[in-house]
Amino acid sequence: MTDPTPTASHFVNGTYFDDANGDELPVVFPATGETIATLNTATQATVDAALDAAQAALPAWRAMTGTERGRILRRAADLLRARNRELSELETLDTGKPLQETLVADAASGADALEYFGGIAAGLTGEHIQLADGDWAYTMREPLGVCVGIGAWNYPTQIACWKAAPALACGNTMVFKPSETTPLCTLKLAEILMEAGLPPGVFNVVQGRGDVGAALVSDTRVAKVSLTGSVPTGRKVYAAAAEQMKHVTMELGGKSPMIVFDDADIDDAVSAAINGNFYSSGQICSNGTRLLVQSGIYESFVERLTRRLTGAVIGDPRDEATNFGPMVSAMQREIVLGYIAKGKAEGARLVAGGDAIEGPGFYMQPTVFADVTDEMTIAREEIFGPVASVFRFEAEDEALSRANNTGFGLAGAVFTRDLARAHRVVAGLEAGTCWINTYNLTPVEMPFGGVKDSGVGRENAKAAIEHYSQLKSVYVAMGSVEAPF
Ligand code: NDP
Repeated sequence: MTDPTPTASHFVNGTYFDDANGDELPVVFPATGETIATLNTATQATVDAALDAAQAALPAWRAMTGTERGRILRRAADLLRARNRELSELETLDTGKPLQETLVADAASGADALEYFGGIAAGLTGEHIQLADGDWAYTMREPLGVCVGIGAWNYPTQIACWKAAPALACGNTMVFKPSETTPLCTLKLAEILMEAGLPPGVFNVVQGRGDVGAALVSDTRVAKVSLTGSVPTGRKVYAAAAEQMKHVTMELGGKSPMIVFDDADIDDAVSAAINGNFYSSGQICSNGTRLLVQSGIYESFVERLTRRLTGAVIGDPRDEATNFGPMVSAMQREIVLGYIAKGKAEGARLVAGGDAIEGPGFYMQPTVFADVTDEMTIAREEIFGPVASVFRFEAEDEALSRANNTGFGLAGAVFTRDLARAHRVVAGLEAGTCWINTYNLTPVEMPFGGVKDSGVGRENAKAAIEHYSQLKSVYVAMGSVEAPF
């Protein structure tokens, strides 16, 4: 396994450095509970140094052509791919996710983002607009300035790349704060970007808890904040950003519905339910945690889903045979077990799992509740762990209105062989990202994000460019100026 100890805690202005006055930040390997590295959090001096570096690097970086910027990002994508194993091992140590997953999902997705936005950087242009009397206008697409990225702990490499790649392609610079729980991977990304030729100061990493994030968000040097996190944190960050009219992207939590009709391919639907509830031990924002299943196949679906869980290989995430690892932390496991207790107390039928697994590390069983009803706590609140809830429904209208009966709006899916119904139901879903007959596929070519409480803005695809650039309109007069007097 790769050595998880980073050269230092922070990466500012092209170099690693430590902040001796910062608090200790232990990094715990979720599979054993052991501390594998100790970093320190950023003091205000480090936050200042990072923002100053990002501000100083901005003029030269934005003045480069998109082609030049793109070449650096694409080189970084190649380096990520070439070092996939080392980066995947680090991601596994940081998060506890099985190597079987990280080898294909994390650095690989980050590399896709760097390659995609590296590829379109050269094509970012304004437009020409013909006006009356020979006058005309043009628009210029300008970067926003210094952007702040703040990440959650479930996909540290991917989250940093999904934010940095479009930001940098547009000519912005960035200061990124990873989650305190998973601080290691983003440092490697900074190192690789430098190796690819990124000028110092364009991408900086500072470690810390929520207070460091808050200091970044409220700083006047910052033009934009992109957060991946929970809805309560999103509300705080959005409000703080609004004080200074900053741009925001908010990628927040979800309680997404997966609607399975009687005519669906039931094995596909069960496979999707497994991917959409138990991959990464269920710690995925867009998971389809409300499985709405039509009554004709309800019992069969519950039985097949439960049976398939016996195929989970729970073990050391460093073993490539393992396909179900620990939760990220003891605290997150406690939160999830609390929800399971509420599910039982409120009358849901526990059909699989439900318990913590004894021994070192933060393991728990993949869990399924059946006969869940809409008013139960487990039906309404985001659990963010390996807990699936199955609901019974009779009619299409009923399924749609119950699916939408939530403040969240991140994702949703429909499983049916009826093409017209699939599109009709998806059109009615109040969700930013939807799938038909599959779940949780998020290629960089497709915009990703939520509506309602689940977020503002979009990541990935051409849509992300709108959230990391602004237009300047220029009116060009070709004749003389007339005035009334
Ligand atoms: P949190 O909301 O707890 O934290 C997110 C980030 O915000 C962390 O880096 C955190 O720092 C930081 N933070 C906390 N308070 C503040 C503040 N006042 N100002 C600025 N930054 C702050 O989320 P989790 O890390 O627990 O992640 C899980 C959540 O993320 C779930 O709700 C999940 O749905 C959501 N998520 C959404 C995704 C999406 O794309 N829509 C994808 C992945 C996850 P620290 O942790 O260091 O205290």
